[in-house]
Amino acid sequence: MSDERTTAETPIDASQVRYDQARYVENGQYEPLLSEKDLTRVAIGDADAGEEGEATRVDSPLPDDLTRDSLELPELSEPELARHYTRLSQMIYGIDSGPYPLGSCTMKYNPKFTEDVAALPSAAVHPDRSERSIQGTLELLARLQDYLGRIGGMDAVTLQPPAGAAGEFVGIRVAAAYHEHNGEGHRDEVIIPESAHGTNFATAALGGYDVVSLPSNEEGRVELEALEAALSENTAALMLTNPNTLGLFERDIEEIAEMVHDVGGLLYYDGANLNALLGRARPGDMGFDVMHYNVHKTFATPHGGGGPGAGPVGVVEDLEPFLPAPRVREANGGDVDYELFDPDHTIGHVHGYQGNWLVLIKAFAYIARLGDDGLADASAKAVLNANYLASQLEYDVPYEPFHHEFVASAGEQDAADVAKRMLDYGVHPPTTKWPEIVPEALMTEPTEIESKETLDRLAAAFNAVAEEGDEVLEDAPDRTTARRIDQTSAARNPRLSWQALTDDE
Ligand SMILES: *Cc1c(COP(=O)(O)O)cnc(C)c1O
Repeated sequence: MSDERTTAETPIDASQVRYDQARYVENGQYEPLLSEKDLTRVAIGDADAGEEGEATRVDSPLPDDLTRDSLELPELSEPELARHYTRLSQMIYGIDSGPYPLGSCTMKYNPKFTEDVAALPSAAVHPDRSERSIQGTLELLARLQDYLGRIGGMDAVTLQPPAGAAGEFVGIRVAAAYHEHNGEGHRDEVIIPESAHGTNFATAALGGYDVVSLPSNEEGRVELEALEAALSENTAALMLTNPNTLGLFERDIEEIAEMVHDVGGLLYYDGANLNALLGRARPGDMGFDVMHYNVHKTFATPHGGGGPGAGPVGVVEDLEPFLPAPRVREANGGDVDYELFDPDHTIGHVHGYQGNWLVLIKAFAYIARLGDDGLADASAKAVLNANYLASQLEYDVPYEPFHHEFVASAGEQDAADVAKRMLDYGVHPPTTKWPEIVPEALMTEPTEIESKETLDRLAAAFNAVAEEGDEVLEDAPDRTTARRIDQTSAARNPRLSWQALTDDE
């Protein structure tokens, strides 16, 4: 890249991008797996290794076919090991290398101080120690429950579910138990807008419900007449994401809540988009009865590669007795300050009371540090950044006004090709091909953390790709370590160890 800074108005040239993974390959810096390197190996317990090998053999209580006689480990010096992993990290793209605007995923930089807090020696507490000896752990969990309850406008929170999808499942099981308890077990339908995240449909189906899919209106929101038609005495719940996956706020939310409650149904809030509302509006005040929080999207914890996460669930008072056991609460007198208890009509055990503890510590630290004003500021910037970025794009953004994310259309181009080509411009692409209401969707969420300069760089990459023809797009990426990968085969015939790889060849 030249000294001149790239802005949305100055087009960029892929060959000038400094972040260029292919360079590593061209310069012979391709990093082989440790197992491919010609390394001295230390054999442990090898039968042929004579006395020394024998000496390392351990008597194991496991059956013979589950133990191995020898283990070959590469012998590496510390610098060799450090360089190996540093090079691997340079061959891939991550949130520490540049913007990561995957819509709906909320892939933001998370401050490193939360990692420090989670790494404190005092955080390494065995969950099964006596209640009296884990008072600090219980207090942190109780306070985080309060924070999340206040943020969501919910009366009670469980921190147990280890992901958003797991939170959805708990929420729907809690709703089912509530209906059952009230003699309403016949309710067997969950209504979900067609633009919803796939986990909503999976949750309802796994929870034993029939899914009633709700079409969107031309504005991209819930169509009240369609909702009216879908609601009945069989409705157990309506699951909604607000703002929805197009980034649009459901303006009729109070009316929607009333309609659902009128037929005796519950309103479930998918909290993945909470970044848009933090400190400004609360699902509980809108009429939602149960919600999950994706703390790894909203309150720190990097979650690339599928984990780790946590999906606490908040409920209104009526649903509290059904939450998973055990729960944490402030003790009412007695010799401990905080205690565990089983709610009266609990749906049972879904995870340890401590949930995904290290993720929860980070969420606690993040919320405590930002405070009310900081959280409100984060949502304001998330919305501002999305709106600024969209205003700089040549691609059409059909649905407005959106909040923290927007869905552009790649038009005549294939959104998957656009995504591959963006890698050549040194930025991570947005989520593609979903939601399906927008043809060739480019679902983009810059998050609150990016500067104007970074947003301009992203816009320049989008706009450069928008000008390119199919020949270039279909051949992309050509500046990454790996070129176009056969993702279907990779998913269907995964080779999960280097041995499988070498055996095949
Ligand atoms: C990410 C997401 C989920 C699922 O959450 P996980 O934590 O990934 O299990 C559900 N709904 C929406 C809208 C999401 O973006």
